[in-house]
Amino acid sequence: MSYVAVARPAAGASLLVGVLLSVLGPLTAAPAHAVPESATELASTTTSAQEQSGRTSRLTAAERRVERSVERRERALSAMFAVAERHARIEQVRSDRLRALGYTGDLTALETILPLRGYRLSAGFGLAGPLWESTHTGLDFSAPSGTDLVAVADATVSEVADAGPYGLRTILTLEDGTDVWYCHQLVSLVSPGEAVEIGEVVGLVGSTGNSTGPHLHLEVHPAGGGATDPAAWLSSAGMTP
Ligand SMILES: [Zn+2]
Repeated sequence: MSYVAVARPAAGASLLVGVLLSVLGPLTAAPAHAVPESATELASTTTSAQEQSGRTSRLTAAERRVERSVERRERALSAMFAVAERHARIEQVRSDRLRALGYTGDLTALETILPLRGYRLSAGFGLAGPLWESTHTGLDFSAPSGTDLVAVADATVSEVADAGPYGLRTILTLEDGTDVWYCHQLVSLVSPGEAVEIGEVVGLVGSTGNSTGPHLHLEVHPAGGGATDPAAWLSSAGMTP
């Protein structure tokens, strides 16, 4: 097993910093402008009691507006920090899961991984033979029955069903619309509609359907269309099987 972590820009982090700055900026600027102007007005008062009263009420109204503005920004800041903390916890859980699968390096940048560990490639894409109706439309990973099958990327479970020759099949739809099929499973551990994260166990290797022994038959269908070579697809994501 080999892989190369593909760096991706920390879009979430820079967005967060931008939002924090936009919140922090006005927070420090607003009272500095509003309060001294009003204080100067008050200090130069040599007018009638009526005018004085009007100015005082305008001042307190301005103060209330500043106070409300500060409170709103403090609440916004608290909310932003809560989001940042939650994001950090999620990243930690994800990194721990990938590390447990044997991946190292900058795990926050890892977007695609292999569907299982401890396998032997037993049939490539495009082969012709008596086992397949025309040609082999996937990649076979031979592994002991019961081996964990993990999500190759963040995805949504589109289907879990007995698919005839494919046996018990789970289809994950990735964020870019690519469908990834896990075939011949012993059991599936997810349900249609469920969101799964990269590295989460989705099922176990089995030999259901048209199969001569326990293995994962993996298929990759970009945009839900025709099957493409899973080995090439994985390699292009830095995960050569
Ligand atoms: Zn196969």
